[in-house]
Amino acid sequence: MSMQVIAERIRGFICLNAHPTGCAANVDAEIAVAQQGAAAGTPGTGLGAALVIGGSTGYGLSSLLSAVFGYGAQGTAVCLERPPQRERTASAGWYNLAASQRRARSAGREIAVINGDAFSGEIKDQTLARLKQAGRKLDLVVYSLAAPKRVDPSDGVTYSSVLKPLGDSYRSKSINLGNEEVVEVEIGPASEAEVEATRKVMGGEDFAAWVHALAEADLLAPGCRAVAYSYIGPALTFPIYRSGTIGRAKEDLEKTTAELSALLAARVGGAAYVSVNKALVTQASSAIPVVPLYISLLFKVMKAAGTHEGTAQQMARLFRDHLGPGRQPRTDGEGRIRLDDLELAPDIQEQVTALWDQVTTENLSALSDYAGFRTDFRKLFGFEVPGVDYALPVETDISIST
Ligand code: NAD
Repeated sequence: MSMQVIAERIRGFICLNAHPTGCAANVDAEIAVAQQGAAAGTPGTGLGAALVIGGSTGYGLSSLLSAVFGYGAQGTAVCLERPPQRERTASAGWYNLAASQRRARSAGREIAVINGDAFSGEIKDQTLARLKQAGRKLDLVVYSLAAPKRVDPSDGVTYSSVLKPLGDSYRSKSINLGNEEVVEVEIGPASEAEVEATRKVMGGEDFAAWVHALAEADLLAPGCRAVAYSYIGPALTFPIYRSGTIGRAKEDLEKTTAELSALLAARVGGAAYVSVNKALVTQASSAIPVVPLYISLLFKVMKAAGTHEGTAQQMARLFRDHLGPGRQPRTDGEGRIRLDDLELAPDIQEQVTALWDQVTTENLSALSDYAGFRTDFRKLFGFEVPGVDYALPVETDISIST
């Protein structure tokens, strides 16, 4: 037992603690969106079993909740989260999955959680053993990892990803999340070794290792679909994203996914897809230079246009229109599902670019939705969630059944 009043402890783009009641309220709100989204889809159809690698926060959590609460799947989530330790709270993803498990249980379903390094052979083996034991073959595999480093299990080498441009230095406006000022940043180009390290962490190798391991273990159901998430974004952020180190890694992920699609087709009559999602506030995206300022301007314009979505709405749309039972994904010329269509709509981007040119520290709150970014960031950790009384002590020692 550890009852305490919890106040947020934020350092730049990192929050050191999390609020269990706030995280549980976020999960409930996401479940409501997942159920609404599914109700608007094909009625009476469901998913048998879904595995979400990176299923504790952001896009992965929303995918898990859509599959389980929208389509009745039995879920398995793999994640790397910190359990509570005495007075120290758990990480947000821990509380998210604890709340998701409770809700699943009362709905007569199960969410199994494997907490550990998804890149490792050991966690893959544990996951396969769990699925075998449950007698579950997967209809859906979601790959939603966002990680700063990876130990390659084949040789034990540690690779660290970097967020840098290629070729030339990049100068841009950015928000200093520490003092909330609009500043000019200059980011030097990546070395070849950094490009390769980022590919090793965020490219397709580990997604392929998972799909191969699941296929070898005969854990894929007929027609199984696998999906990994990518991002493209506007020309404004190309140097730091799509044309930078992370973009190279995403190209690798997209190429690997096409190869995996052929494997799934041959083995189980299934397919693999990349879904290009919208820029949203998550723990991963908040750490990318320049992106928080872009997101703040984007939110202002998309909220005014009535086209703004969060991760829950994006994933509900992914299932309803593309990956849900009985749905055939619609893809672009390169075989990718495009959930970034509303973000990249020309009228939206024209307005964002015009605001980008004008934004300064002084007019940041008038021109952008930085307030929305700030709130969304705190909400990721269970803070500033409507309806939660933060003056009350709460139990932080909450367990997950693993
Ligand atoms: P996130 O930080 O919210 O989630 C990352 C997940 O990975 C968490 O569940 C975390 O526990 C897990 N994880 C990290 N390292 C791990 C490890 N070693 N072993 C096991 N689990 C580990 O990130 P997100 O923004 O939801 O990103 C998920 C995917 O979506 C990424 O591929 C990202 O590039 C993509 N994407 C994100 C955005 C965006 O704006 N956030 C947009 C488009 C695509």
